[in-house]
Amino acid sequence: MVSVLGVVVYSGIFLFLVVAGIIGCGNPYSSTLLGRASYFLQATLPSAISRWLHSIGAAWVQDAALGAVRMCCLQRNPIVQIGYCILTFGGFIVFIVLGYPRIPNPYMAAWHKPIGIVVMLVCLVSFLLASFADPGMVKPGERKAGAAKRGGKRPKGAKTKGGLRAAEATSKRAAKPGPHPKKADDTGPDDVAECEALPADPSFCTLPFDGALYEGPAMCRTCGVVKPPRSKHCNMMGGCVARFDHYCVWLNAAVGERTYRWFLLYLISHTVVLLYGAVACASIFLSEIHEHRMLERTFVNTRTGEEIPASYGIIFQFLMSNNPELMMIQVLCAVMGVVLVGFTGYHIVLAATNVTTNETFKYSALPNKARHRARVRQYIERRREAAGLPPTRRTAEQDRAEALAVSDPPINPFDRGVLANLAEVIWPLSLRSEDEWPRVDYGPPPALDAETLAAQGGDARDIDRLVEQELRQRSVAARE
Ligand SMILES: [Zn+2]
Repeated sequence: MVSVLGVVVYSGIFLFLVVAGIIGCGNPYSSTLLGRASYFLQATLPSAISRWLHSIGAAWVQDAALGAVRMCCLQRNPIVQIGYCILTFGGFIVFIVLGYPRIPNPYMAAWHKPIGIVVMLVCLVSFLLASFADPGMVKPGERKAGAAKRGGKRPKGAKTKGGLRAAEATSKRAAKPGPHPKKADDTGPDDVAECEALPADPSFCTLPFDGALYEGPAMCRTCGVVKPPRSKHCNMMGGCVARFDHYCVWLNAAVGERTYRWFLLYLISHTVVLLYGAVACASIFLSEIHEHRMLERTFVNTRTGEEIPASYGIIFQFLMSNNPELMMIQVLCAVMGVVLVGFTGYHIVLAATNVTTNETFKYSALPNKARHRARVRQYIERRREAAGLPPTRRTAEQDRAEALAVSDPPINPFDRGVLANLAEVIWPLSLRSEDEWPRVDYGPPPALDAETLAAQGGDARDIDRLVEQELRQRSVAARE
């Protein structure tokens, strides 16, 4: 029975790893075997299951499953947070009950007891701050007087090719007679796409666009603000987060400009507490081995009556059966402690070099992006030549930005030296006064021209449309 259960559990884990590996590594739109397998798992299989459930009248199973996935993975929820609290604070309470009476011992002095409580309190405070403090949600700022009426509509500079569609929708709707009032509760992407981009809260406008990682002012298609460099829209948080690092399930919150310091404190304090716990448990076990002279003794197997000379393996088994709770705590502390040493070290390096987790992905995507950009530009020029249009004019700034984008190793525009970088984490730029850290006025996103489109990696249809648009404009200008 046990072996059958074991086979089922191991096959389940194996299957899960295979499926996760295929989905994670295979591009579903490529024609390789891995790509086709990925497409099958992500598209063909789910839709077949869905059709089957509908055919047997059990569509509710699908709705319930999707609802559960949405609740657990796509919405903020405190499930993991609660699990973390039970594991961490529950574990500490168990240690106070079972471990504290066995300290001091020959390997650990009494003063470690209050220090342990202090470190645990730092863990708790950093957890609360990192979970519940404002990570730096970028809210819209005040629109400057005079700058507001720029045609009244959203600027043509759309971030994505979807922007072109939005711009077309705008012109179609504008062609209808009568006013087009914007409702106060308009929040959907299409509605936002129709209005002018809102300036971001100036406290977050602290850094210039570098032209490579962050190309230039662009509007967030969901919340409508001009996104400051290093910010990213976080669906879980429902807004753009300044200096977005990542969304943390343990904290049930995004880690951003204003909470990265609390996140680092959270990592450091938990690393310390875990290693501390592992050492404290070891001190208890070592003093027990020492006190009872276990290495010199002979152990007896209670089931068979067999006498066994002492060895580290036998002593471990003996301690395990006599102190299962403390042993569990020690193993958990040691394993998680080692994992956290690596993770904390990684984040300290990121902080010291002024890179966010989000930017590590952006850096690795830069070469691909540059190649794509070059291909798009070539296509643009061919299309323009075929249509009899002059080549696109390029500015020195565009050339500089492109050189930055293809530089190897990539240039980090935000790196100001280790001390300044760490100071920036501890004392975020958005919380500094304007005298100390002047704000940048980004202005509205630029109009969508071929150059911007190439930078954003637009597709052939977008380019064709732009070329046709320019041809039409030219012929209208020529007739006038
Ligand atoms: Zn946003």
